[in-house]
Amino acid sequence: MAKSTPKSKTTRSTKSISTRSIHAGEPRKKYADSLTTPIIQTSTFTFKNSKAIEDYTKKGKEHFEYGRYGNPTAKIAQKRLANLEGAEDCVVFSSGMSAITTTILSLLRAGDHIVITDDSYKKTLEFCRSYLKQFNIECTIVPFGNYKALEKAIKKNTRFIFSESPTNPYLNIFDLVKIKKIADRYKVLTLIDSTFATPFNQRPIEFGMDIVLHSCTKYLAGHNDILAGAVLGKSELIEKIRNLHKSMGGLIDPHCCYLLLRGLKTFPLRVKEQNKSALKIAEFLENHFCIKKVYYPFLKSHRHYEIAKEQMTGGGGVVTFEIKGNLSTAKRFLDALKLCYIGPSLGGVETLITHPALVSYYDYTRKRRYKLGITDTLFRLAVGCEDVEDIIKDLHRALIAAVKR
Ligand SMILES: *Cc1c(COP(=O)(O)O)cnc(C)c1O
Repeated sequence: MAKSTPKSKTTRSTKSISTRSIHAGEPRKKYADSLTTPIIQTSTFTFKNSKAIEDYTKKGKEHFEYGRYGNPTAKIAQKRLANLEGAEDCVVFSSGMSAITTTILSLLRAGDHIVITDDSYKKTLEFCRSYLKQFNIECTIVPFGNYKALEKAIKKNTRFIFSESPTNPYLNIFDLVKIKKIADRYKVLTLIDSTFATPFNQRPIEFGMDIVLHSCTKYLAGHNDILAGAVLGKSELIEKIRNLHKSMGGLIDPHCCYLLLRGLKTFPLRVKEQNKSALKIAEFLENHFCIKKVYYPFLKSHRHYEIAKEQMTGGGGVVTFEIKGNLSTAKRFLDALKLCYIGPSLGGVETLITHPALVSYYDYTRKRRYKLGITDTLFRLAVGCEDVEDIIKDLHRALIAAVKR
């Protein structure tokens, strides 16, 4: 294996994010004068002769070798994502979880300690809590938003703080300025899962975060048709992660990468619209007589409204709410929806609704669920790109149907 696959450079472009989402990272002239980025569907790459091999292995000349070590379609996606996030470098993965677990493992060794906030993605938490133990890595879980507890949890062997913003399902916002100060004081790295925000709404690197993670499955690909992940940050750190990625092998295949690139072209358009629609829906729900409470970062009633306004361009496409009534009311509401699909995930063009108590937390006791704030009447709406009035009509009709009986 050669020392490194070709790396992307930071592109500090002055062009707007909409333009960069379409053009960044790809050469103007492509194979056969194709307009779109070709899918280089190959597992292996050839060398013309022995000199070409040596130019690559000894002189570090750019060349692809084997699919697990890099692919031209993936490289373009990496360059584009790095550009959008304002990062020096990026690696793309077969899923968000592959990006997260590979990143975590690449930065740690036995005897290390990490701090993670309790509001993190369920599988990320599970991995940190259960699997890291096997490698003699210690993990302290601190309550989200309690910066004193977070600071207190940091020890001599702490390598990084891992958090997420906004979080699932309450859309809590992590104060990036505060966390940067704490991290600097103790010289620990900061990792943030920015999936819910996307680089359109939030750019953690500008706040000094060391590593940004994305499940590209959500807004970045945006069509509910692929799984993909990405990690972004300084070249030195990303190179470490890339090296482990070559062994772990959570590869995104070229065709999937093409779909990610295609999704990226319209992601600012979609997120802009989803921001607008979600805010409108949040306001509608907040004033609806069947609703108990609405959680949306750009609503004044949200507990992190001020921080959200400081560090985000838009509130994102997810609206969380509790309806009045009980579990039966909740089920009747779900069953009456006609436009919104019932299903997990978020960020795609189709509006999706989930009832966390029935899906993600079905195996928890009611008491344990309630401790986490997962009540019987809590819903998470992932607003799609349908006309907002049609979504509102569907919600309204279903709410009325739920309370009528
Ligand atoms: C979906 C999601 C993940 C996991 O990503 P996959 O692509 O499903 O592996 C991680 N973090 C957040 C915040 C997510 O929403």
